[in-house]
Amino acid sequence: MVTIPPQPWPTGLAEDVEPLVRRVLAPNPSPYTFTGTQTYVVGEPQGPDCAVIDPGPNEAEHIDAILAAVAGRAVTAIMCTHTHRDHSPAAAPLAERTGAPVIGCAPLVLSSDLPRSDEAFDTTYAPDKVLLDGEQVSGTGWTLTAIATPGHTSNHLCFALEESAALFTGDHVMGWSTSVVVPPDGDMGDYMASLEKLLAREDRVYHSAHGAAIEKPRQLVRGMIGHRRQRENQILRLLGERARPVSAFIPDMYRGLDPRLVGAAEMSVTAHLIDLERRGLAACDAQEWRLTGA
Ligand SMILES: [Zn+2]
Repeated sequence: MVTIPPQPWPTGLAEDVEPLVRRVLAPNPSPYTFTGTQTYVVGEPQGPDCAVIDPGPNEAEHIDAILAAVAGRAVTAIMCTHTHRDHSPAAAPLAERTGAPVIGCAPLVLSSDLPRSDEAFDTTYAPDKVLLDGEQVSGTGWTLTAIATPGHTSNHLCFALEESAALFTGDHVMGWSTSVVVPPDGDMGDYMASLEKLLAREDRVYHSAHGAAIEKPRQLVRGMIGHRRQRENQILRLLGERARPVSAFIPDMYRGLDPRLVGAAEMSVTAHLIDLERRGLAACDAQEWRLTGA
């Protein structure tokens, strides 16, 4: 189980985590956000301009804290890694107060035949410019490159700070927990491919939206890939014992789980099952999952 660090947390304070990066913790702790969403301000502290990454929830005190961390610089880009409601709703009010454009992930593509969006998504998100994989945004002494990392959500981007080899990983790789992959927008196959994509990079440190900075990023990513493979093997083993609905995997796979997280665990198992189905290893009839050919 995850241990939440003792309070007081540095909510509302501007913390310098490296020369070009300042962090501000939003007041939205929960079982899904750990101590809250971390917003990053990127740029030279005495420079003329900066970018804001993951402005967070639309809460006046958090927006004031971001502007205090900006400390008089011009905000030239407001960048969201994805559009969950703990990440992007402050983009619009912050744009209004700074005049900065919203540049970053795409809005979610809503499919007409699937409930692709749920209450976790910010449907009001409206970027001025969408960044494709490899596209850059820069200012005085800072350059951010978009790295497409779908999986946690279909529109997820990480942002690489070229000057310091830091990577802002949003919810793709976090400092406190593995990422939640919720179908149908979340996709386990994409998530695994996006982990492999980071493993092939040489980033020095990850700054995630929740939890401490990750100083040994490749080691953590390798561990996360191993964790998902282990989960997949557990699911295959349980399916080998007998066919079962999604809910019947949880007691075996997540001992001592916080009851508030059962829904998330079921979603994660479902994401694995959909991936196994796509690969021809599992099938589902009337809510019961089974091994193919079993
Ligand atoms: Zn998220």
